[in-house]
Amino acid sequence: MDVLLVDDDPITRLAVCAALEEWGFVPVVAEDGHQALKHLEGKNPPHLLVIDWSMPGMTGPELCKNIRDRSDGQFFYILMLTGKEGSEAIVEAMESGADDFVSKPFDHRVLKVRIAAGSRIVRLEQTLNQLASRDALTQCWNRRMIDELFHKSILESRRKSTNLSLMVLDIDHFKKINDTHGHSIGDIALKHLVTVLNNNLREYDQVGRYGGEEFVVVLPNTGIEEAWGIAERVRSAVQFQPAFVNRDLSIPLTISIGLAQCNHAEKEDQHRLFQRADEALYNAKASGRNRIVTI
Ligand code: GH3
Ligand code: MG
Ligand code: MG
Repeated sequence: MDVLLVDDDPITRLAVCAALEEWGFVPVVAEDGHQALKHLEGKNPPHLLVIDWSMPGMTGPELCKNIRDRSDGQFFYILMLTGKEGSEAIVEAMESGADDFVSKPFDHRVLKVRIAAGSRIVRLEQTLNQLASRDALTQCWNRRMIDELFHKSILESRRKSTNLSLMVLDIDHFKKINDTHGHSIGDIALKHLVTVLNNNLREYDQVGRYGGEEFVVVLPNTGIEEAWGIAERVRSAVQFQPAFVNRDLSIPLTISIGLAQCNHAEKEDQHRLFQRADEALYNAKASGRNRIVTI
């Protein structure tokens, strides 16, 4: 686990980094509050932070407040490391948003158990986050999370005047797969479908499971023509890569896809855009399946 160490004193940095490495953590170093905030803006920021109190520019408590005021909902466990002692300092540190407090010069054993406690909380939070946002079977986003991402993407694309398209897709005659091979083979087919989707979409496309075997894909920065190309790549990949169960059994799959581009001119919201893509999916089913229809 990465640990962000924020301290202006090079000697403390060296000592704490060496200790963190010895305890199996990966130290990430910042020399002041601004550098620390930059690290936290990155894609996979450390979630366990050790912050010095007295630093030029931004103090430890100010940095804590800054981190707690961020509105993106990420969790950070903050341990304040400081030369100060006593109840007043503990109260001030924790009121500014720190989760724990260790006085310098620190006892190695005390810092070790405090960091271990913090890492348990970070891991627990990560597990809860995973359970709350991922579909348990396929590990793509669950409905709650994809709705949230979809909503954010619409607002962002409206603000930046960029295109956004939505794909709604559903396995053809999936009931027959369950009826013929059993539910657990149906589950393998669902997992396989998500693997094929992930292999054929771009890094910033978001896949979510909406219902049993219905999925939505949010395509940011994508107009309808480009979306069609992506949908066709996905459709044909699914058709030509059956779900492998064992040497004697592979399940061929096809999907139908409904596509729609968000209409910013009419301030289209996510419900209306979903409705249109879902209607297109209905038409794809009605007109023979294994095809893409756009509205
Ligand atoms: P269509 O081409 O019109 O979509 O036909 P279909 O058979 O795929 O559609 P229908 O909606 O009738 O059937 C969906 C089936 O998906 C029914 C349900 O039992 C199954 N299903 C839903 N969730 C799961 C799941 O998590 N695992 C498995 N194995 N099956 C599921
Ligand atoms: Mg179906
Ligand atoms: Mg269905």
